Amino acid sequence: MITFNDVSKVYPDGTVAVDGLDVTAPNGKITVLVGPSGCGKTTSMRMINRLIEPSSGTIELDGVDTQTLDRVALRRRIGYVIQNAGLFPHRTVVDNVAALPRLLGGGKKQTRSAAMELLERVGLDAKFAQRYPWQLSGGQQQRVGVARALATDPPFLLMDEPFSAVDPIVRNQLQDEFLRLQADISKTIVMVTHDIDEALKLGDQVVVLRQGGTLAQAATPADLLAAPKDAFVADFVGSARGYRALGFHTCDDLLTLVDEPTIQVGQGISSVAAPHDRWVLVVDAANAPIGWVDTVNLRGDRVEEGDVNLSATSARRSEPLRDLLNSALSSPSGRCVVTDDAGALLGTATDHDVIDAIKRAKDARSAGVSA
Ligand code: ADP
Ligand code: MG
Repeated sequence: MITFNDVSKVYPDGTVAVDGLDVTAPNGKITVLVGPSGCGKTTSMRMINRLIEPSSGTIELDGVDTQTLDRVALRRRIGYVIQNAGLFPHRTVVDNVAALPRLLGGGKKQTRSAAMELLERVGLDAKFAQRYPWQLSGGQQQRVGVARALATDPPFLLMDEPFSAVDPIVRNQLQDEFLRLQADISKTIVMVTHDIDEALKLGDQVVVLRQGGTLAQAATPADLLAAPKDAFVADFVGSARGYRALGFHTCDDLLTLVDEPTIQVGQGISSVAAPHDRWVLVVDAANAPIGWVDTVNLRGDRVEEGDVNLSATSARRSEPLRDLLNSALSSPSGRCVVTDDAGALLGTATDHDVIDAIKRAKDARSAGVSA
């Protein structure tokens, strides 16, 4: 647990970077500090490992004031990942990861094999181990940065804009991998980002800071979206708030599915009893949805592969309402296709039914929030 007690930082030139910050980062969770540029995110984070000293207030690690701890010992317990990875340019990838364990007295063979294991864990192929950082892509370098921060197996991990320097597709991959990794290692993490989408995706807790380094709101992503504390938070969380909130609700029992008549490729359309309308759902032999066929524009009776409209998505029953809405909106029939966790068809619902379920989820949620 990392606790800020009334922490402020005033730089020598009089800039108030952080002002009276009270916040707790719980053990085993990801706490994300987010806010506009210059609101004190990096300053707050660097006060945790004492790269910057607070002007007033205290920061505790598991209840112990960091001022009472030796700085070197403190930093050994806190892994640190920065933007652009900050790797040693003249050392190979594996030596970058093994450097600190070596410095702490680990044997050459053992630290190397531990480093190779870590590289595999962060999704980097062994063939990159002997390369130099400049021979890797930005995303690969970032993976090495994470592996290096984990090399001494510290309970705490600080990450400053770790995924900001890579393109959106790679960033998404890195975020997904990072969430899988964290599910495994359960570190106590404080991450800084200016990207609210990243904060909502990765944070168990999201801490919104405002200009002048004051706390605007600390909450779970779902609560932040459902009940922003003031206009600043609402504005920062953004105009797509309603849509983003859908990412956190599942349909549970709010959506009643109806049976959908289906057909397989190679079968005759006349064999389909009572289709809902001109669109008939095509499934494979395992009853997994493939796409839709337009019975009005079909050339013959038999459905050929080329007749199937593949543009629609389907959603698993356990997935958030956002995915169900995507399915309905992407489907030429306007119907959302819902499967079980194995991907087999459960049924469909109209776009109107999906939106009604979303409204009911929202009502249930705001009743819960105000309670
Ligand atoms: P963020 O990471 O949210 O962009 P920072 O913590 O880097 O914000 O900076 C917070 C404020 O403190 C900004 O106004 C910044 O210009 C100022 N600042 C940062 N470092 C220093 C410094 N060494 N001396 C003076 N002002 C600084
Ligand atoms: Mg910063």
